[in-house]
Amino acid sequence: MARYHESVCRLCRREAMKLFLKGDRCFTNKCAIERRNFPPGQHGKRRSKILGYGIQLREKQKLKRFYGLLEGQFRLTFEKAERMRGVTGENLLSLLERRLDNVVHRLGFAASRQQARQLVRHGHVTVNGRKVDVPSFVVGPGSVVAIKEKSRTNPGVVAAVDSAKGRGVPEWLDLAASEFKGTVKALPRREDVSLQVNEKLIVELYSK
Ligand code: SF4
Repeated sequence: MARYHESVCRLCRREAMKLFLKGDRCFTNKCAIERRNFPPGQHGKRRSKILGYGIQLREKQKLKRFYGLLEGQFRLTFEKAERMRGVTGENLLSLLERRLDNVVHRLGFAASRQQARQLVRHGHVTVNGRKVDVPSFVVGPGSVVAIKEKSRTNPGVVAAVDSAKGRGVPEWLDLAASEFKGTVKALPRREDVSLQVNEKLIVELYSK
């Protein structure tokens, strides 16, 4: 499967905002956005003004990178959102937010979405008591996402749970930290998406 191999901090610098791709480091002053908030590359400091298509493209890239998707996966999610009832942009956000890797991260079992994806792929996560190793699996209301009993001493999980203490979980999730599990209480609402993004511009971009 294709993967992104460059420094992920470059992605934040390109979007001129924190996308929280590196776990704990993102909350320290070592964050590249704190130190060098200009686009990467030789001519990065000359940030040029973007208009029209450029703005739509940046919104799409920002959302895609925040959830750690490549273009093909993102496009498929968009097409699924289009087929659903309701507002396409909001459906897209809901589908992305309910991805299993995102839920594992939002519950605090992984420091980043990247780490969450690895936990899922390596079979450390269950949904409703059954192992699910597909990071793009979409959970729904009532789903119970848990870390397997054997994996609860995994150093990565222990460190993530420790550093997530006090950060809280979004309202649509219910965390039982001592049991390493969380329940999806409801569908995420638009305001539950922490990223500042204009999803309407993404819909316009893909509708051309
Ligand atoms: Fe982005 Fe985190 Fe790197 Fe900061 S430390 S630039 S938020 S990935």
